[in-house]
Amino acid sequence: MTTGLSPDQLKLQARVRELAAGPVAGRAAEVDRSEQYPWDNVELLKDAKLLGMTIPPQYGGQGKTWLDAVLVIEALSAACSVTGRIAVETNMGAISAIMAYGSEEQKKMAASMVLAGDKPAICITEPEAGSDAGGMTTRADKKGNRYVINGHKHWITGGGVSRLHLIFAKVYDEQGNEEGIGGFIAIRDETKGLKITKREPTMGLRGIPEAVIDFEDMDVPPSALVIPPRGLKKGFADLMNAYNSQRVGAATVALGIAEGAYDLALKWSEERQQFGRPINEFQGLQWKLADMSIKLAAAQALVYGAARSGEGGFPDMLLAAQAKVFTSESAIQVVNDALQFFGARGYSRELPLERMARDVRMFTIGGGTAEVLRNVVAGALLKKKLPQTRDGWSKGRS
Ligand SMILES: Cc1cc2nc3c(=O)[nH]c(=O)nc-3n(C[C@H](O)[C@H](O)[C@H](O)COP(=O)(O)OP(=O)(O)OC[C@H]3O[C@@H](n4cnc5c(N)ncnc54)[C@H](O)[C@@H]3O)c2cc1C
Repeated sequence: MTTGLSPDQLKLQARVRELAAGPVAGRAAEVDRSEQYPWDNVELLKDAKLLGMTIPPQYGGQGKTWLDAVLVIEALSAACSVTGRIAVETNMGAISAIMAYGSEEQKKMAASMVLAGDKPAICITEPEAGSDAGGMTTRADKKGNRYVINGHKHWITGGGVSRLHLIFAKVYDEQGNEEGIGGFIAIRDETKGLKITKREPTMGLRGIPEAVIDFEDMDVPPSALVIPPRGLKKGFADLMNAYNSQRVGAATVALGIAEGAYDLALKWSEERQQFGRPINEFQGLQWKLADMSIKLAAAQALVYGAARSGEGGFPDMLLAAQAKVFTSESAIQVVNDALQFFGARGYSRELPLERMARDVRMFTIGGGTAEVLRNVVAGALLKKKLPQTRDGWSKGRS
């Protein structure tokens, strides 16, 4: 569907679709099998000026919109979800938070790293603080003119390949008073005390490492702290506002994978013959195709709408949450149905369907689970504290 896209956006979409169908698709199975980060594809994206597109021109980027980035991510993910995720994290998430709230020095450094091919890592989740991210225990203690960071994060995408890290920690003043949650910039192999200690063995999306990271007396200057406009007290809320761009990006990867799987199923349904006719002559499969296309059209409308809501700022929290919940759940169903069209062949590692089914499963979990995002939607609709949040919980509740 191309409704509402400008001529430039249609051109961009066509250019990226060509790249995706060529070298990116050609390497996707190998990226999955080898579990190696696709540095070749990073070079392709860099040459095609698809990394850091959303970075403003004064920092070397192109000042492209979220929707432009979404079109790129969607097309790449149909061929290789790992490459789609690289496009997310070089245009959204940590880089977008730094470009929005960082100092001049931070913006220049982050932009130049991303444009040179670095995919930043965003470090929020901890073993005891997942959905309840505000319960994090990683701490940054002010000591003289330094911050000393100690803690432990897990499931950090890109840990071990990313150099630029945006690390969320509770900030304490010299007297030990908590000041709020802040985001600190650190660079792997330059900032002492940042250690990658484990790679998670994942079900899918195997070309990007998910890592455990330890911070042991990691010593950074105050200039490493990204201070959002409302200061540290509201810092977490502002940083999470930037994260709405990443949520739209994650939804887009799921959408792209599902569109890729759907296209394969549609084509196969004409080629494969049983009972003397193409299998798409059977109404059971025709209705399945119809349902798949309806889910994809609805998901795409939600994703594009959420991306458009962020023009000049960040995508709207409610629209981003609605788009991610619906798209991630629908994409799992569409890929599963597409695999079914191939019968036994769909279950083989010689075709991409089983990889797509493993890859797409992630998107109801990472970047806010479907349950927690339903809480976000309900909270926005009801405008009240929800009992299922830290603020709404009362031990004495009868
Ligand atoms: C592939 C992958 C990549 C990731 N990348 C990153 C990254 O780069 N950086 C990062 O910081 N994190 C990352 N994460 C972590 C991700 O954000 C967390 O996994 C997610 O927030 C959920 O936390 P959890 O896994 O601890 O689950 P838990 O919080 O333990 O949740 C367990 C279950 O309880 C449900 N639940 C919890 N609270 C509620 C509630 N209030 N109401 C209803 N249901 C609830 C959840 O939905 C879930 O089903 C990644 C995860 C994956 C799988």
